[in-house]
Amino acid sequence: MAINRRSFLSIAGLAPAGVSFAGFDASPVKPRSDQPVLRASSAPDVVVVGAGVFGAFTALRLRERGLTVVLVDAYGPGNSRSSSGGETRSLRVGFDDRELYFHWALKAAEYWRTFEQEWKRQLIVPTGSLEISARWTQGMEDTKRIYERLRVPFEVLGPDGLRQRWPQINPDGIEVAMYEPGAFLIKAREAVMASVDAFQEKGGTLRIAQAQPGNTSGRRMENIRLASGERLSASQIVFACGPWLRKVFPELLESRISTPRREVIFFGTPAGDERFGSSYLPVVLEPPRFFTFPNVEGRGLKISIGGTSQQIDPDNVERFVPADVVKKAHDLMSLRFPDLKGQPVVETRVCQYEYTADRHFLVDLHPEYDNVWVVGGGSGHGFKHGPMMGEYAADRIMGRATDRAVDQLFRLRG
Ligand SMILES: Cc1cc2nc3c(=O)[nH]c(=O)nc-3n(C[C@H](O)[C@H](O)[C@H](O)COP(=O)(O)OP(=O)(O)OC[C@H]3O[C@@H](n4cnc5c(N)ncnc54)[C@H](O)[C@@H]3O)c2cc1C
Repeated sequence: MAINRRSFLSIAGLAPAGVSFAGFDASPVKPRSDQPVLRASSAPDVVVVGAGVFGAFTALRLRERGLTVVLVDAYGPGNSRSSSGGETRSLRVGFDDRELYFHWALKAAEYWRTFEQEWKRQLIVPTGSLEISARWTQGMEDTKRIYERLRVPFEVLGPDGLRQRWPQINPDGIEVAMYEPGAFLIKAREAVMASVDAFQEKGGTLRIAQAQPGNTSGRRMENIRLASGERLSASQIVFACGPWLRKVFPELLESRISTPRREVIFFGTPAGDERFGSSYLPVVLEPPRFFTFPNVEGRGLKISIGGTSQQIDPDNVERFVPADVVKKAHDLMSLRFPDLKGQPVVETRVCQYEYTADRHFLVDLHPEYDNVWVVGGGSGHGFKHGPMMGEYAADRIMGRATDRAVDQLFRLRG
């Protein structure tokens, strides 16, 4: 028997005074082995579908707050098809005029540092982040203004300053550069796996299975349906399926989320040459042309080229990088990093973004149900905010107070 929303809020410690749910222990979560689970139903409080960075941190936070949570992923946490499955993702505070995400990134950076210590795994690689441009753009001016207001450390450099500081970069055609020294890379795939390990250590359950919406009753979804035919009931159901959201709810989301293809190419660095490693070279962005990440753990210097709008199906696309894209990448590398001219491609990846129309995240109840949440729309900048999304989505799901302005920004629209 599934419980209703009133009982759920009671479990979450949010029921009106005097209303309580017998047998529920809301004290801090203990490891699974010694935790008695006394509940009205054997069904979990929450099922989260999708163990990418958004789903994994949402599940972790809910579990840490005392709820029983099952996390379901079709291919496993950090898998190669997922948007979170890359080697590295960058955390830079600056984000044009979108001040909300500056605040989120500042707090997320603290979370990542805390998790790194708590989980005793290296998740962060300090690099700094450098945006270069032929002229001041509106985005750079907005970023600078908000950096100043929030006192985020940054530097502005011209071509001479660039040449002196990072002689590996050729500044031809570049007039202005803005450097955020506190930016870092997150070891993305590893961080997702670490968060899911923490979730399980705290008593959460991971299932590897493909899930679809299940039976409904009025404005409730009673369960999800696994590919095996099994039904998994829960009080609240969260779909954090990233680029798959449009396949899970085609009528609702096909027109609201796009999944453009993005090629990622790693170039070898010369033997014995450390100048392209993270100790010597920052993340370099030249929007909208490309961005590069320095060599981390010998994977090579990573470049991703902007521009394609080709939509991909994350389940079935063959992840080869075509020759014309490889050629373009070679040309850009030779231009900006002349000492890497002629270096071979050592690895390639094909990923996909999951863009909303306005590039804001998407966190909302499904309009047809009172217990089904849609969490996604990372829009090319979601990874770094994973811990913040976990916190925020857990608040929404548990009915806790959140910032109304943020709720509005993240609502389903269009
Ligand atoms: C090339 C590239 C570079 C990027 N760079 C950055 C960056 O530098 N900084 C940054 O912050 N962000 C960056 N991003 C964006 C960031 O990676 C994404 O916003 C984020 O990873 C999205 O996470 P997610 O959990 O929403 O989705 P995903 O990571 O895709 O996770 C969704 C999960 O759901 C599972 N799933 C889907 N459907 C089902 C189903 N029916 N049943 C069960 N499981 C299902 C999948 O297997 C998958 O594991 C980049 C993205 C790309 C593609």
